[in-house]
Order: sequence, then C-alpha cells, then structure tokens
Amino acid sequence: MAVAVSLARRGAQVRVLERGLHCGQGASAAAAGMLAEGAEVTEAGPFLELCRASRALWPSWAEELLLTTGVDCELERTGLVRVTSSEEGALRLERQAKWQQSHGFEVSSLWDPSQLAKLVPGLGPSVLAGIHYPNDGHVHSHRVVDALVAACEVHGVAIETETEVTALESRAGRPRLTLAGDRVADGDYLVVCAGSWSGRLLGAAGGAELQVEPVRGQIVAIDPGRPMVPLIVFGDRGYLLQKRSGLVLAGTTEERVGYQPWPTVVGVSGVAAAAAELMPELAGARFADAWAGLRPHATDGRPLLGRLEPGGRVLLATAHYRNGVLLAPITGELIARAVFEGVDPKELAAFSPGRLA
Ligand SMILES: Cc1cc2nc3c(=O)[nH]c(=O)nc-3n(C[C@H](O)[C@H](O)[C@H](O)COP(=O)(O)OP(=O)(O)OC[C@H]3O[C@@H](n4cnc5c(N)ncnc54)[C@H](O)[C@@H]3O)c2cc1C
Repeated sequence: MAVAVSLARRGAQVRVLERGLHCGQGASAAAAGMLAEGAEVTEAGPFLELCRASRALWPSWAEELLLTTGVDCELERTGLVRVTSSEEGALRLERQAKWQQSHGFEVSSLWDPSQLAKLVPGLGPSVLAGIHYPNDGHVHSHRVVDALVAACEVHGVAIETETEVTALESRAGRPRLTLAGDRVADGDYLVVCAGSWSGRLLGAAGGAELQVEPVRGQIVAIDPGRPMVPLIVFGDRGYLLQKRSGLVLAGTTEERVGYQPWPTVVGVSGVAAAAAELMPELAGARFADAWAGLRPHATDGRPLLGRLEPGGRVLLATAHYRNGVLLAPITGELIARAVFEGVDPKELAAFSPGRLA
C-alpha cells in the first residue's frame, strides 16, 4: 500500500489486488511496529543505508498521512535499550556499540544495571548490562495500515479485496494476471507485494529461484494498567514496548513452520515468560491478547526490491522480513521512482531480485 500511495501521488492509476476481506491481514498488522535500526542492523552496507533512509522519512511520512487522512500512525520516538542477561552478551553489546558509534549510530556505551534503572525502572535482576539508542521508536502497525488504506482512497487507488491472484505472466511485455473466479487483470506495470506468499506467485511465473519463506512471529499483548515501559526494551529472548493505548506488546518468536499464522500455546507462554523475566511486574499483569504473523524472508534475508528482469515491467517489493514497517516509506518511494524513471534507482542495486537468480 505504501507503493500504491507513492505511485498514485505521482499520477499513476493504481489497483491493489488483495485476496483478504480487507487489507492488513498479513504480517503488516501483526507487527510490533518498531523502527529499530539500532537493534536490527549490525553491519555496514546498503541495508543499513536503506533502513537509515527510511527511518529518516518516517516523521514526515507519518505527518503527511495524518494530514491527508486524519489517521495517526502513533509514531513515538521513545528510544530503545538493548539489554542482556549474560557476560558474553555484555561483551557482544560493548563491541556492537563501539562499532556502531564508528558508523554514525547514536548509541551509548555499555551501561550497568543502575544506569539502566534510571531510564527503565522495574527491569528484572537478571539484566546485567545494556546499550541505549535514543533515536529508535515505534508506530502502531494497525494505525499504519488504516492510514494507508485511507491514503489510497484519497489518492484514487482502487483497493479490490477478495481478489486473489492465482498466476502471473511476467516474462515479456505487459504483465497479465489470472485472478480467482476466471477473471484476468493487466496493466503497464505489476508490483508484487504479496508478503510471504510472493514466492508462490513468482514460482507460478517461472521465478522459482526467488523463494520467499514465511517466518512466524508471535506477539503477546499485556495490559499492566499503568505506564511502565517508557522505551523499547530489547532483551536476549524478547522485547517489550508500550503503545499509547497502554497495551504492552511482548515479542516474539522466529519459527519456520510454513503457512501457520496463528499463535501457539508454547509460543505464547515462551514470549510471556521472556517478558516477565525482563520486567517481573508483568508476570501478574492482565493478559490481553495474542497473535502471530508471517514475516516474508528471502534466502539471504534481505528485501527483494526492483525489477524482476532488467527492462521489465514486473517489479518486486517484498521480503522485508523483520523490517517491513521500518522500510515502508523508502520502499514506496524507490519503487515509485523505479516505475516512473524506467530504471531501478541505484539505491535498489543491492536488493535487485536478480542477485538471487
Ligand atoms: C510478529 C511480527 C513482528 C514484527 N515486528 C516488526 C517491527 O517491529 N518492525 C518492522 O519494521 N517490521 C516488523 N515485522 C515485519 C513486518 O510486519 C513485515 O516485514 C511487513 O509487514 C511485510 O509487509 P508486506 O506488505 O510485504 O506483507 P503482508 O503484510 O503479509 O501483506 C501481504 C498481503 O498480500 C496478500 N496476498 C498474498 N497472496 C496474495 C494473492 N495471491 N493474491 C492477492 N493477495 C495476496 C495477503 O493477503 C496480505 O494482505 C514484524 C512481523 C511480525 C510477524
């Protein structure tokens, strides 16, 4: 939908084909909504640049969505502490902070529990050390989906729900889609944004080498009844963040179990236990909800962005894995440029689907 809005704002006529009853039934509305470049990226290169560029876009992107649609993405620049409960983890975080400081990240040096307690009261006794990223933050992923649906309406994007694409012809000329119910659709360009299901669609078009595997993540929502997680707390076994509504989201699992987008007994209890270890007071707090989503993961873990083939009219905007919310603004922007400029922008070179062919 970020791609659709960026294209429509530039004057394109766009149709979003969504097989669900409404948009946001995939990973996007399941996400914790962290914009956590600091915790997620620990090596230099194009992925770091992409994350950094997207996070820089987020404030104006959210502001524009609010102005255009009235929907607030609830962007909060809370900061994030990456904490650990082991000596080995503390050494690793110390190395990470040093490396990141030398690569332009705003990150503190290693803090001890008393320094951490000033920022986050209530951390568990197992927490030994941590590093602080003041610029990381989060958005409310449901609100982001709502805002994008509304922005699509404002910009004249046709969202066609209960419309499943069953096959695509991608090799030459104008892209042509087969839809469930013996219907077809075509257009000057096709952008495949089918999340964890993108590989299946591409496989049907002969692009079997571009696998996109689902990696399940489970979230537990807890209602502690008071503000208690002032910033994102990212531990060895899970993370915590508190939304404006007061709900604390605890995440998550990384499970390769195929297409099973539901929370499980073992998953939920493991996430809840990790949450209570990070902040013991949560152990007695009210359980509110649990859900799961499937993160789209390419074989090398990096997004697939840009033309399927040089000069072609089929583009990919998928496989964002753990960072699709963070990367939404830049994805919309770069894919829209790729369509309008006729070639993929250089920022997309490292993410070209061709690298895995
Ligand atoms: C538990 C969890 C926590 C996460 N936390 C974060 C986070 O904190 N920060 C962050 O940046 N990212 C996070 N992510 C990752 C992020 O959610 C994903 O990278 C992102 O949402 C992927 O978006 P997408 O639009 O590509 O896929 P999806 O949101 O899965 O959307 C794909 C859509 O395609 C539709 N579709 C599929 N096949 C077809 C077809 N054949 N025809 C028509 N429609 C089809 C589906 O119905 C679905 O609506 C998290 C993910 C999970 C699961």
